Amino acid sequence: MTPPIIGILGGGQLGRMLALAGIPLGFRFRFFDPSPDACAQDVGALTVGSWSDCDALRQFARGCDAITFEFENVPTASLDAIESIARVQPPRIALATTSDRIHEKQFFQRCGLAVQPFADVQTAADLALAVATVGTPGVLKTRNLGYDGKGQRVIRDARLASEAWSALGSTPCIYEAFVPFDREVSVVAVRSKVHGTVQFDAYPLGENVHRDGILHTTVVPARIDAALVSAARAHARVIADELDYIGVFAIEFFVADGVLIANEMAPRVHNSGHWTMDGAVTSQFENHIRAICGLPLGSCAARGAWNAMLNIVGRVPTLDDALTNSESKLHMYGKAARAGRKTGHINLHASSESELRAALTRAEGV
Ligand code: AMP
Repeated sequence: MTPPIIGILGGGQLGRMLALAGIPLGFRFRFFDPSPDACAQDVGALTVGSWSDCDALRQFARGCDAITFEFENVPTASLDAIESIARVQPPRIALATTSDRIHEKQFFQRCGLAVQPFADVQTAADLALAVATVGTPGVLKTRNLGYDGKGQRVIRDARLASEAWSALGSTPCIYEAFVPFDREVSVVAVRSKVHGTVQFDAYPLGENVHRDGILHTTVVPARIDAALVSAARAHARVIADELDYIGVFAIEFFVADGVLIANEMAPRVHNSGHWTMDGAVTSQFENHIRAICGLPLGSCAARGAWNAMLNIVGRVPTLDDALTNSESKLHMYGKAARAGRKTGHINLHASSESELRAALTRAEGV
């Protein structure tokens, strides 16, 4: 019997780690990416093509048993080209909802999640009104195509608003209140349908620290009340059911004055879930593969008391340096160093928070 083939739209590190988790289950992988340097090609065949090349997309899809994406800015028009050939999961509604920050916030509101005040900005007049209504400080973000803090500007002074908008290309934006948060947390969850029966589970919540808009560390468990943990899991369940979601996803929240404020959702495996590769019974990558193939989910339970993930950004350490700490687990993505680019991560676990923090400090030194 030939092994089932999973096609992944996007060939970055998330695709690479999906394949690294799925190969031991007996799957084979192929990737579609506009870049000939896509790092997932180390673990499966790469088709290089543009998202608008429907012929290339159709050819890629033929022979795939399941298709997923590792990149939420895949145009939904690209899915049109392939959906009649192979099933794509997560569902396109998830992609369509989360690829536009205004639709995403409105969707959160419909699902009962709290969001910060926000306004739609299409014109310079909208911006002036938005800043007057929402107030300052606020964050102006492009509605589409933002990631890792790109496509956003903090506005502290209303007089500088139009300058910020020009800097973002005067494109459609969302203007949202700046949240003076105590912490940032994320819930990474998974939903599957096994012979028609829904399975849902969520990993312990992670507490995230960003630097320059890029995730720096995730520490698990997040130091928040059990009631907030339950609330975040319940929100994830509502959202997943509403979208009839299949696969892994993440929702990022600000915690401010003991309240969860939903910031954004990623309809894919997420950087704040990378710790699960070494710290959970089943990694987010394996559970995503299981879910899109209609297979039973593995446990999302943590294997140790404390886990952490440290991103390696903008550099490629030598293996001699990176492997100095015998306690850490290194995952490099095969990418060249570039400013602001994630090239790998380190997972750590410990039996107490203080031990974990000490190990994180050692890992940061490599
Ligand atoms: P995002 O692309 O929305 O995930 O933003 C990246 C990071 O910028 C977030 O994780 C926060 O650290 C910060 N940030 C974004 N929006 C806000 C906001 N409205 N208030 C405070 N910090 C924000």
